[in-house]
Order: sequence, then structure tokens, then C-alpha cells
Amino acid sequence: MEKADNYINEYEYKDAVIKARISTLEIASAEIAAHNRMADNSDDPWQAQALCARVDYELFFPEKGGSARDAKKVCARCPVREQCLDAALSNGESYGIWGGYTERERRKLQK
Ligand code: SF4
Repeated sequence: MEKADNYINEYEYKDAVIKARISTLEIASAEIAAHNRMADNSDDPWQAQALCARVDYELFFPEKGGSARDAKKVCARCPVREQCLDAALSNGESYGIWGGYTERERRKLQK
């Protein structure tokens, strides 16, 4: 009986974790779509060179308290980092890593 109770608790726990993860993913997917729209805009040549288009976009939208380190490593090697940062600042992008800067770091740049 105790084992069954543990199983139910474990099941409920996993269900809660999955629901929280789905909620986070829904927010992230909207942010990723915005990032993709910008990276896929072939009218701007620099966007075709965006290194982030070749890696997992979720890297660029870490969860709250998550690390931006891996995204920054990609940005550090990106040939269009300056253009990306300029565009993000001009467009007021408020989420994600752009040009190697987190949203907080971009806010500081604009002060
Ligand atoms: S600087 Fe970073 S976010 Fe910007 S295009 Fe390059 S890899 Fe993507």
C-alpha cells in the first residue's frame, strides 16, 4: 500500500513538473518564434549569417535564473554580433540573448 501511495505521489509530482515545463515552453516558443522571424528575414543579409540559426534556439532563451553562458559562447563566434545587438537595441527586444547580451545587460547599455 505504501508503495502504491508513493507511486501516486511520484506520478502527481511528475505531472506537476511536466505542466510547469509545458507552461515554460509555451512562453519560450513565443520568444523563439520572434527570434526566428528576425533570423529568417532574408531581406537583411546579416541575418543569413546568424550563427544561432544553426544551434538550438532555446539556448538563447534560458529559463529565469538559467545560464546564458552557452548562448554567449555562440554569440562570441558569430560574425554578425554587432548587427544583431544593434537590431535588438533598436527593436527593444526584451527577452533572450541577442548579440551576446542578456536582456539585463542590454538595458544597462541603453542607460
Ligand atoms: S550574435 Fe548571437 S543572437 Fe545574434 S545572430 Fe549571432 S548568434 Fe544569433
